Order: sequence, then C-alpha cells, then structure tokens
Amino acid sequence: VDKCVVILSGGPDSTTVAYWAKDKGYEAHAITFNYGQIATREINQAVKIANELGIPHKVVDLSALKEIYSGVTSLVDKSIPMTEEFSQPIIVPFRNGIFLAVTVAYATSIGANLILYGAQGSDEKYYPDCRRDFYKAFESASRLGTELSIELDAPFSEIQKSDILKKGQELGVPFHLTWSCYYNGLTHCGKCESCTNRKKAFHEAKILDPTEYAE
Ligand SMILES: [Zn+2]
Repeated sequence: VDKCVVILSGGPDSTTVAYWAKDKGYEAHAITFNYGQIATREINQAVKIANELGIPHKVVDLSALKEIYSGVTSLVDKSIPMTEEFSQPIIVPFRNGIFLAVTVAYATSIGANLILYGAQGSDEKYYPDCRRDFYKAFESASRLGTELSIELDAPFSEIQKSDILKKGQELGVPFHLTWSCYYNGLTHCGKCESCTNRKKAFHEAKILDPTEYAE
C-alpha cells in the first residue's frame, strides 16, 4: 500500500481529501498546522476527524508564524477587522508554501511519496499558492531537494466547493465535525467569508447543512 500525507485543516475540503485518500486504498497520514490562527478550534476538529477516520495524525506547532503575519492577515491578527466578503486581509501569503515544505520533510521521514491537499477550484483566483502551476513547481523543487520521487496533488483543484461536498457525502465525511469559521466561537459565526462560502456550498449541493451557526 502506498503511503500518503494529507494536509488536514479541519475544514470540509481537506477532510474530503482525507476520506478520498483512504477510500482509494492509500495508507493515509494526516498533518495539521498551528500557524497562529485565531480559529484554533479547527485544529481540535482535525484531531477528531483523523480519529474518526482512524488514521495517524500529527499536529505541528508553527505558531511563531503569528509574528511573521501580524499586521498582514485578520486570520492571526485580531486588530485587523474581518470582512464578510472576500478581501485581502484573509489571505495568508505563502501559507501553503510553508505547509508544503514542512509536509515534504514529514513525508520523507515516514517514507511517503505522495502529498495531498485540499485546494479547490475557487481558491485559485485569490490564492496563488493554491494554483496548479505553483504546486507543480513545488513538486519539482521537492524532488530536487530530496532526490525522491515526491508527488504533490490537489485532487479537487478543478472542482467547486459544492461538488466537493457531494463527493464528501458519498464518502461518508462527518461534516458536523468540520470547521470553517475564521473566529473561534462555540459555534460557527455564520457571517465571516468562510462561513458564507460554507453555507452557500451546502445550499448549492442540496445537502442538509449540519452546522450550527450563531446567525
Ligand atoms: Zn464564521
């Protein structure tokens, strides 16, 4: 059985990737990053999801990144206001690049040669480090830097969030365990950009949304 590492954020997209990998027969390992995000709840949810799926899981503490990103993104810096619509402050520049680099290192340490992450179609517009051009270049760099045949893939990079949810439903993804909100409330806020996309995607997929929203 081939080993792979799935970058699991705790959100519905990466959770579906993890379920998809296991369904494909991979020996899947999950990795989750604490990058100083306000929504640490997503990390706890990732732990529960990996447990539910029955796969090994590593949480990596990169919380010092908060110092790098302070003043840049509202996801780590409470003084930058969160908006309901998409806006620059929710971008965390090169976050995926950092995650992929650490994941390549982890993959080499456990003998995995495939890395999967949950970039989806609509990420491409705003997040350059979610684009195929980027991760294929990163794949080349990983091969050069390890002399191993590392493969990087985002199996859902061509499809929209609602279609990922449909796939997830087929695979039995426990959506109630997934977390999307940029805040760290007891329930999803229901208003931030990420909650808005989550609501919209469940609606478009015609799947009953199990999420409890504050409003
Ligand atoms: Zn929210």
